[in-house]
Amino acid sequence: MAQRVAVSDGANKKVSRVWVAVRLRPYMGTQDEKDEGSCVRGLDSKNLEIINWRNATETVKYSFDVFHGEQTTQQEVFLSVKPILPHILTGQNASVFAYGPTGAGKTHTMMGSSNQPGVIPRAVREVFKMVNAKNEDEGWDYSIGMSYLEIYNEKVLDLLSPGSQDLPIREDKDKNILIPGLTHTTITSFSDFDKHFVPASLNRTTASTKINQRSSRSHAVLLLKVVRTQHAPPHRQQTGKLYLIDLAGSEDNRRTGNQGIRLKESGAINLSLFTLSKVVDSLNSSTAVRVPYRDSKLTRLLQDSLGGSAHSVMITNIAPEYKFYFDTFGALNFASKSKLIVNKPFICETVAVAVPALPVKRARNGQEAGRSG
Ligand code: ADP
Ligand code: MG
Repeated sequence: MAQRVAVSDGANKKVSRVWVAVRLRPYMGTQDEKDEGSCVRGLDSKNLEIINWRNATETVKYSFDVFHGEQTTQQEVFLSVKPILPHILTGQNASVFAYGPTGAGKTHTMMGSSNQPGVIPRAVREVFKMVNAKNEDEGWDYSIGMSYLEIYNEKVLDLLSPGSQDLPIREDKDKNILIPGLTHTTITSFSDFDKHFVPASLNRTTASTKINQRSSRSHAVLLLKVVRTQHAPPHRQQTGKLYLIDLAGSEDNRRTGNQGIRLKESGAINLSLFTLSKVVDSLNSSTAVRVPYRDSKLTRLLQDSLGGSAHSVMITNIAPEYKFYFDTFGALNFASKSKLIVNKPFICETVAVAVPALPVKRARNGQEAGRSG
């Protein structure tokens, strides 16, 4: 994947743009009480279309660096992330984040399950594999460590040390971002990683219904740090950081009638995701604009690992059912600033249905779908 397109930020400094992937989750009958079928579908490996709510005889077409259709496997998604991993062995930074509405597949994509591990376990395995394959003769010693945190209501909380207080985000003289007080655990193998990661993730998501909701209202951030030290004097040391992030749900919190604590959370989610969108926009635009990293905790944390010489992949997860329509539209507009209205009905002739047992009404034509708005 030749994904690192360096663009000039206007000051002759090379700035990496963010590589944008979209993943469409498979249609789920349980998410479609009205049995309306899908409102979005893939066209090819870069393009997709969604029905136009203003005029159901039209579709809106979007183009991305890569589009992962409903049949895409966890391994295929991982392959679109894999090329950034070698950089963290040479003192560079990288980030991968899953964006999208609750229920669209962010956690499936990043964490996955034991049968279908996601980007996080696959990336950690790959980093160990790369480090173990390093030849002694190259003259470097490697050490790998992890931190795991949650950003909830603009507070930074240590998931490896439950009950800890909001932690500060600082910048050192070399412009590295750090969090003093955050647990950093050295890990020597994948199973060592799992031993820390699995219980911390379970804590976050299954302790109670309330926390379950919370998992969609906070950003979970896994940091993998690779430090390499030269054997011989002057014993140069390089640190590479990889952030793997399962973001809070991007659904429009203004529409959900939130009150009290929910309203406060909504404000925090909106602030950090809105700031993230501004940061990604300014990194991906060719004109010189200020990158507003400091406007939220999330982007402040990512300041040295998103843009600049860092390597980043954003995976936007979307769901095909109509009840997600406006959230999907919002997520696609976040991920792509360019879209094309295509004047043709949304018909199912090119939908590749590999599994015969799928519902018949997978996609319907514009007339039938008849949504005016
Ligand atoms: P999110 O984290 O964005 O709220 P989840 O990852 O929890 O969404 O996904 C919602 C549901 O859809 C889960 O039951 C999950 O297992 C399922 N799911 C998501 N993506 C896929 C996929 N690509 N293939 C199969 N099931 C999926
Ligand atoms: Mg989730």
